[in-house]
Amino acid sequence: MSTDRVIVARDGATWRIETQSGVIFFSSPVFEHTPLAVYDFALLALTLASASHNRHFVLPYPVTRSAYESFKLYAHALPLLSPDLLSLPTVDCPHIVDNSQTSYMERSVICLSGGIDSTYAVATARPSHTLLIQGADYPVEASSGFSQLNLRVTNICKQLGCEIIVVQTNLRSFMTDWGIQHPGLLVTCLNLFSVHFQIGGYAADLRLLQDVFRYPTGNMAGVADCLTHSTLPIFHVGANKSRAEKIAHLAYNHPELLQYVSICYDSPQTSDNCGTCSKCLWTRLHLHAIRDSNLRASVEMQLFGNLIPHHEIINRQAAPDSDRDLRITIHRCLAIASTLPEGSLKTDLTERARILTLLQQTLARESKFVYELRASRIEAELRARLEEQTALNQAIYASTSWRLTWPIRVVSEFVARKAKTPKSCE
Ligand SMILES: [Zn+2]
Repeated sequence: MSTDRVIVARDGATWRIETQSGVIFFSSPVFEHTPLAVYDFALLALTLASASHNRHFVLPYPVTRSAYESFKLYAHALPLLSPDLLSLPTVDCPHIVDNSQTSYMERSVICLSGGIDSTYAVATARPSHTLLIQGADYPVEASSGFSQLNLRVTNICKQLGCEIIVVQTNLRSFMTDWGIQHPGLLVTCLNLFSVHFQIGGYAADLRLLQDVFRYPTGNMAGVADCLTHSTLPIFHVGANKSRAEKIAHLAYNHPELLQYVSICYDSPQTSDNCGTCSKCLWTRLHLHAIRDSNLRASVEMQLFGNLIPHHEIINRQAAPDSDRDLRITIHRCLAIASTLPEGSLKTDLTERARILTLLQQTLARESKFVYELRASRIEAELRARLEEQTALNQAIYASTSWRLTWPIRVVSEFVARKAKTPKSCE
């Protein structure tokens, strides 16, 4: 592994981390007037780059002890979360200092991307400022999509009475696993503003229980715990609420914000919501947590420009494509159903979760059985298990409405791939 002694310097409104493999930059007009006493942001940025490119960096600038200790835990977590794409980062910090930087009191900043989670975070935590990062979900180069997103986020901030700061960075191009590493980028940017703010924050995407089903993701509470430190405490906002609860909260308390919310990744040129991708379809189902049907219809119109009946939404959704996706889908169905009054959507979601749970159990028993069979070769039990699965398949095929078409896709894509024939068990 090569060693890379980096240079960190500010040039006007831009902080630059110069490495042998390129320059990581961060630009914002705010930087012009703020000398930094500590370089915690550079430590975190280099930790992300080192994990992705297996490089050894030496950072010869002051770093606070609290940031060093926290980011070391984060560094240990990265290759465990993504062993195929990330390695153990090595960043040497010969100049560790005790916290000496003083922040302005009673000023706080939360990252705002314009989606449901961060809009909920800002609407409930009410920070003095929000941070929009150009180079996170959208490319760092100027684009009409980002301009429109900026307009959406600016409008959300106006409604909530907070000031917006925009920062541009190319840090993402030094990262190889966005799904795992993206909170590291958010927190790197927040640390650049540590002289301005007493506390920072970014939105939790999931409830704590969902973290368990979705493992691994980057936006988990356990990861957030390694990104906060006493120089700049960072809160993971909203981990006690589901997406359905966040949407219902916004609909009842801040209905004026929903016209500006951008939830879709399929329309980066416009920041609009396509209304038909997987994320938009799930959001449409989550909207049913709004009990007032007129309000729900108006929110769906604001977000997507049209209304789709819920049975059609379920029919359009793709079948789970992995064990993890199966787990996530079962939990989502049950989580949404639990927020609904008695009715056909609650029944459909509960039924869908039941069918997927049967499938999951069959798959789990099957793989266990293959192992047992190798040891004991009990043919009769193999037959019984296969008959059980055949009965399940027949039950699924014999269902009506979406229960006919949708599970067939599940079964064909999942069981056909995973089901073992007697021959393979010999
Ligand atoms: Zn979409």
